[in-house]
Amino acid sequence: MKYDSKDIEKIAEGIVRRADLPMLGRNPNRTYRLGIMGGTFDPIHNGHLVAAEQAFYDLDLDVVVFMPAGRPAFKQDRHVSPGEDRYAMTLLATSDNPHFLASRFEVDREGITYTADTLALLREVYPPNVQLYFITGADAIAEIVRWRHAETIADIAHLVGATRPGYDLDRARSTIAASPYHFDVTYLEIPALAISSSYLRERVAKGQSLRYLTPEPVTGYIHKHKLYGARPNTFEASELDRAQEY
Ligand code: NAP
Repeated sequence: MKYDSKDIEKIAEGIVRRADLPMLGRNPNRTYRLGIMGGTFDPIHNGHLVAAEQAFYDLDLDVVVFMPAGRPAFKQDRHVSPGEDRYAMTLLATSDNPHFLASRFEVDREGITYTADTLALLREVYPPNVQLYFITGADAIAEIVRWRHAETIADIAHLVGATRPGYDLDRARSTIAASPYHFDVTYLEIPALAISSSYLRERVAKGQSLRYLTPEPVTGYIHKHKLYGARPNTFEASELDRAQEY
């Protein structure tokens, strides 16, 4: 028996609801633009948030869904915090922005989460009047031709590469240009991307403050769950000591 389009619509709606994705595409007379912010987010920081906000406005997106990577493809040999923690921090960081959402779409998937699979699934779920914009770091974009099923990515998504000022885009541009697939890429320069997740992890390990680098609830979560070598209350205690010196 063949499904008719109403059945497919119903199934897609079910998946979207279950997978905490935004409902988009209902009005067939308009085009929707869905931003998918892909990253390990270990941890999420203000650079990511500023990049997503800029992409939202510059590319006229309807919503940006932050999608922490499940088991990142190129990080099998490295320690990555559990998906549950990275998702929780992403949720905390995005909760006060009405056009940001955090999704479990990748963290709940078994096995390595390849971007091509994610985008192909999203393409199935959304009607054709929803365009997909995959936003990530320009370093990652430079590698994209090596990713599994890169041709699928080229076919179904616009790419947005976020860079820090002074970043040399030559490598990304030449790799993309040499590829047999046609990638549609927009690069955005984001001053706040001077911040990086590794810098935050190092600071935590040294007991240094994360204030103004990531939203406060994320800092609280890191200390409460002792991520990145955080000693609970160490930071607060040193703040208190300092306060008593005045
Ligand atoms: P990464 O190699 O750890 O990051 C490369 C650079 O990009 C870092 O400077 C990183 O800074 C920055 N970055 C990462 N995500 C960003 C974002 N959304 N916005 C702005 N800057 C960002 O990259 P990754 O985090 O592992 O992967 C990025 C995305 O590509 C994820 O969605 C991942 O699943 C996907 N990916 C897919 C494949 C595949 O399908 N084969 C392979 C690799 C990556 P921070 O460390 O500060 O974030």
